[in-house]
Amino acid sequence: MFDDILAANRDYAAGFALAGLDPRAAKGLGVVTCIDSRIEPLAMLGLRPGDAKILRNAGGRVSDDVLRSLALATHLLGVERICIVQHTRCRMVGATNEEIRAAIGPAADGRDFLPIDDQHRTLADDVRAVRESPLIPGGVSVAGFIYDVDTGLLEPVVP
Ligand code: ZN
Repeated sequence: MFDDILAANRDYAAGFALAGLDPRAAKGLGVVTCIDSRIEPLAMLGLRPGDAKILRNAGGRVSDDVLRSLALATHLLGVERICIVQHTRCRMVGATNEEIRAAIGPAADGRDFLPIDDQHRTLADDVRAVRESPLIPGGVSVAGFIYDVDTGLLEPVVP
């Protein structure tokens, strides 16, 4: 089932050039974005391995788990600025918890899958959630963006 992945990894390791990279984010950047397979988080921001901490989930939402990881990233791993990047044509926009629970079945009962109704308002709420979190140091800059999967452009939405 995973033979192709392992073969590709052997090729990758044969030319591996990232040994000894510092675990702290070299550009002081944290990026929260969606799992969408059209998004290349490093390439779209001009980053290389070692530059940033990348956190991904469905929708690019600031969940409790994302906040915990951002707390570690800011306190221990050199992150001083955080971009929250949601995107156009996201499957989570317009979805509802009811629809998602119906697709997943009984195991999903009662869970919040953080769907998005109004993307600009949700992004503003998520930026505020990071800014107001007691887990995140006060000097950290936080902003919200929408990435256009058809043009590659990033629109600043919550400065
Ligand atoms: Zn998405």
